[in-house]
Amino acid sequence: MATSVLLLDAGWRVDRVIGVELACELIVTGKAVAASEDIAQVMHSPSIEVAVPSVVARIGRLHAAQRRTPTCSPRRVRQRDLHVCQFVVDGQPCDRCGDSVDHLMPRSRGGGNGWLNLVAACRGHNHSKADRTFDEMRRRYGWDLRREPYVPSRTEVLVSAIGTPKPEWEPFLVA
Ligand SMILES: [Zn+2]
Repeated sequence: MATSVLLLDAGWRVDRVIGVELACELIVTGKAVAASEDIAQVMHSPSIEVAVPSVVARIGRLHAAQRRTPTCSPRRVRQRDLHVCQFVVDGQPCDRCGDSVDHLMPRSRGGGNGWLNLVAACRGHNHSKADRTFDEMRRRYGWDLRREPYVPSRTEVLVSAIGTPKPEWEPFLVA
């Protein structure tokens, strides 16, 4: 696997993970500075040698795009919900794998694809809920949720996507 570098935005919050070549380019062109003393890799060209840090921070102004909430996707919803079905049925939290994603307000009733309308669900509960709303399941059958869906931070999304972060990244990965 290619060496990766943690990129912070100009406010030193986590942006994303980038390859060492891009990190080198950002450093050489003055668009980013070292944010860690650990060196990811030393890059050589015929004329220069650049020690690329494990963590780099962009300099300059914060762009609006860097402040927006992370894009929602089914995979990210399952990661947020730790791959566990979020429904509580007959007072029992379901402990089956949440390998599908349920729309609390079904798409057929105008429900969207946002963080607050999606939860990880096992196929059985997803199927039995079908195109009824979660409110209906709550009122008629006493269903509940392990946890209300929420919008995760960019850091949380990144951390669940990268799995095991490098130790030198950890100080920056607190949400
Ligand atoms: Zn379930």
